[in-house]
Amino acid sequence: MNNANTALQQADPDIAELVRAEERRQDEVIRLIPSENYVSAAVLEATGTVLTNKYSEGYPGKRYYEGQQFIDPIEQLAINRATGLFGADHANVQPYSGSPANLAVYLAFLRPGETVMGMSLPMGGHLTHGWAVSATGTWFKSVQYGVRRDTGRLDMDQVRDLALAERPKLIFCGGTAIPRTIDFAGFAQVAREIDAVLVADIAHIAGLIAGGAHPSPVGHADVITTTTHKTLRGPRGAMILCTQQHAKAIDKAVFPGLQGGPHNHTTAGIAVALKEAATPEFRTYAHNVVANARALAESLTERGFELVSGGTDNHLILIDLASKNVTGKAAAKALDAAGIETNYNTVPFDPRKPFDPSGLRIGTPSVTTRGMAPEHMAQVAGWMDEVVTALAKGNVDDVTPVVRQQVVALTRAFRPPA
Ligand SMILES: *Cc1c(COP(=O)(O)O)cnc(C)c1O
Repeated sequence: MNNANTALQQADPDIAELVRAEERRQDEVIRLIPSENYVSAAVLEATGTVLTNKYSEGYPGKRYYEGQQFIDPIEQLAINRATGLFGADHANVQPYSGSPANLAVYLAFLRPGETVMGMSLPMGGHLTHGWAVSATGTWFKSVQYGVRRDTGRLDMDQVRDLALAERPKLIFCGGTAIPRTIDFAGFAQVAREIDAVLVADIAHIAGLIAGGAHPSPVGHADVITTTTHKTLRGPRGAMILCTQQHAKAIDKAVFPGLQGGPHNHTTAGIAVALKEAATPEFRTYAHNVVANARALAESLTERGFELVSGGTDNHLILIDLASKNVTGKAAAKALDAAGIETNYNTVPFDPRKPFDPSGLRIGTPSVTTRGMAPEHMAQVAGWMDEVVTALAKGNVDDVTPVVRQQVVALTRAFRPPA
């Protein structure tokens, strides 16, 4: 996108300039939002192809439109790579994104009014796991588990007690702000006891699982949903993996139950990302993501930051800023001005409101893709401390430009994939 003579530049200079500016921004900031990443140039290229022109409602070999000579093998490659990489019986690669993938699972197994159990949003779950403002919390009866106040960790005994009392037909495990390893075997045991379908939503950790840096839910969960664009480093999209027993129900739920035509350019990008994720380099990447998160957590702890659950096992760190006397939103805004991109987030049992909570959610997928290592995480922690300390003292505007310069210097040495 650096070429000033692209078709986009000529047709729509306004959008072209904004895209270029966003590209520059992604290059010059330290991106710590744990659900984001950088795709490879190959994935990016696949998503910007003529495949976007084609309709292909149905599945490979069973379409409702002609002209699928090349679309069918593309989708089949994506399916085969997904089942191969994760060791699952069946894969559906058509969900438009993580939320529709989860909705399709409800459609496959639940009637309106029946009971779902998931982790509550402010404890680290996702909206689509039955949170009240989501369709999943209004169309279904939802019971929600959380973490223990004393440890900040999930308590499988509490999960079991709630499951036995409420007998949900569907149980979700996984979430968006969980810094610790998920006990898929423990959840499977609870689900079996009450004959519920267990869904592992691995949106955040799919790349870690593919790379062997987090245990896999395969063999424990009946259904696995995931986005493709977080640690997995593919395009915006999602997949549903499941056992053979549920394959038909899942496929029917995605199409024609919930969606129309699949986004074939995205399917191609997913196929490319899955091929990349099967390489030894990706295994190294996944382990480096975790090593960087651990290093960042340790450096932050040394600097007096309080971390929910005391640290991290994966790519994600949840900081409780209460002890630093700043709020999550103010800290996120100041850090952004300094070139460090985070997102404010509730912490478990947060006394503050969701739109200005106590926490900051960060992670290392993006910085690791750029090639940064644990020693750079110590630097990042130092900058975060400088900004947050200045914010508490009231002189943050003096500090952010200085940190910003140092941040840009580091980003120059670790460029995103191009
Ligand atoms: C990101 C995420 C989703 C939703 O994905 P979208 O693509 O934003 O719809 C669902 N579940 C979990 C656990 C997530 O982290």
